[in-house]
Amino acid sequence: MRSPSPARRERPSIREPLQVVVRIRPLVGSAAESGAWRLEQRDGQHWVCHQPQGEKLERGVFPFDQCFDGKATNKELFDKAAKKLVQAAVAGSNASILAYGQTSSGKTHSVLGTPYEPGILPLAVEEIFGFRDDGLQVLGKQAKLSYFEIFNEKVIDLLAHGPSQATSSLPVKEDAGRGFYVQGLREAPVRSAEDVLRLVARGEERRRYARTRWNDYSSRSHAIFSLCFEGASSAWEATRRTKLNIVDLAGCENHKHEASEDGRHINRSLFFLGEVISRLCKDGRRDGLSQRSLSDTRRRQDSAPNSGISTPRHSARLRDARTPPRREKNADFIPYRDSKLTRVLRSSLGGDALTLLLVTVHPSPSFAEQSLTSLRFATKARSVDNFIPSGLDSARSNEDRSFSVCDAARIIEGLQ
Ligand code: ADP
Ligand code: MG
Repeated sequence: MRSPSPARRERPSIREPLQVVVRIRPLVGSAAESGAWRLEQRDGQHWVCHQPQGEKLERGVFPFDQCFDGKATNKELFDKAAKKLVQAAVAGSNASILAYGQTSSGKTHSVLGTPYEPGILPLAVEEIFGFRDDGLQVLGKQAKLSYFEIFNEKVIDLLAHGPSQATSSLPVKEDAGRGFYVQGLREAPVRSAEDVLRLVARGEERRRYARTRWNDYSSRSHAIFSLCFEGASSAWEATRRTKLNIVDLAGCENHKHEASEDGRHINRSLFFLGEVISRLCKDGRRDGLSQRSLSDTRRRQDSAPNSGISTPRHSARLRDARTPPRREKNADFIPYRDSKLTRVLRSSLGGDALTLLLVTVHPSPSFAEQSLTSLRFATKARSVDNFIPSGLDSARSNEDRSFSVCDAARIIEGLQ
C-alpha cells in the first residue's frame, strides 16, 4: 500500500461556502389556501419572498443559491443541486447533503422519494454505480455503506447484525487520523446500486418498526446514510478514504422545545447544529466575509425584490480563493463535541467536505412562522465556509448506464 506523500498533505485548500438550496413543497389539500411564498430570480440570485396573508408576520426576502417550487421534481433537484457533490465524492472529496426543515415539509420525500419519484439517495446511488456495476473497481475504488440514526442522542446502527446490536447505542469517538467516528458501526462492502438500496431498505424496515413504538419518532430521528470510498484514482496517487453523507434530519420545529422543564434538550443534536452554524457564521463574517465591499452589498440589496427590505448579509462568496485551512484554529471554540450529530458531521460544517444544505419549506401560511425560522437558519448557514483540499480529480463521465432509475424505484418500493 502506498503511503500518503508529504506533497499531498500540504496541499492548499479552496474555500467552499456551504451551498444552501430551498425547496417549497406543493400545497395540497385546501384549495382555498394559497402559498405563503413566492420565488423570484433576479440578477443571478434566487430569492424566496414571504407574502404574509393576514398573519402578523413580517415580509421578508431571502437570497439562496437555488430555489425550487412545488413543480420541481426530485430529479430536477438532484441534477441541479446534488449531482455535482456526488460526482465529487467519487472523484475524491468528502461531500454531505443535509435535508433540514420542519416535519412534513418534504425532507424524506426529497431524500428517499417514492417508487414513482426516487429521491436524492437512490439517484445518487444510480449516479455512482449506474454506469456499470464494476464502475468503482475500474476507478480503483471500493465502497462501504453505513446507515445509522441518532435518536434521543443514541446512535443506532440500522444495518447491525442481530437484534441486541440493533438497539444498543454506539459511542462516537475521536481519533487524530480519522476525526470523529462511530465505534463499532457496521460498514458493509457494496458493489452495486442494488446492494446499497437493499441495505437501505433493511435499515428503513428497522425505522418503520421503531415508528410503531415511539411517539414522534419520525420527526425526532436523524437518519444518516454514509457511503465511504476507498482507493486511489490513479497509479501515482495515494489511497484515499472519502465519504458521501446523505442526512435526513429530525424536524426542526423541535428547536422551540429545546430546553424542556428538566433542562434537557428534546433534540440536543438539532440544537447544537444551530449553535455550530451560528458560531461558524460569526467566525466567517469576522475573518472573511466582512471583507466584501460595501458597494457589492448595496448593489445586491438594491436588486432585491421589494427593495428597501433589509436582506441578509452574505454576498461575498469568494469561490476559488486560496486560503489556508482555518478549521484547526476554530475547532476548540465551536461546540462540535456537544452533540452526536455535530460530531458525526464535523467535516461537513466548517471542515473539508463539500456541503449542500437542502432546506424544505411547507407552503402553508399556517406554518409561515416556522418557515421563517428555517429560512433564517438557512441564511446563516450560507455564511459558513468549508475548506476543500485543492487538486482533486475531476468527476468522471457517466455514460453507458446499466442500472436505471426504474431499478432504483423498484427497490425503493420495498421501503414504502
Ligand atoms: P418530512 O420528512 O419533512 O417530515 P415528508 O417528506 O414525509 O416530510 O412529506 C410530507 C408529505 O408531503 C408526504 O406525504 C410527502 O409525500 C408529501 N410531499 C412532500 N414534498 C413533496 C413534493 N415535493 N411533491 C409531492 N409530495 C410531497
Ligand atoms: Mg421525514
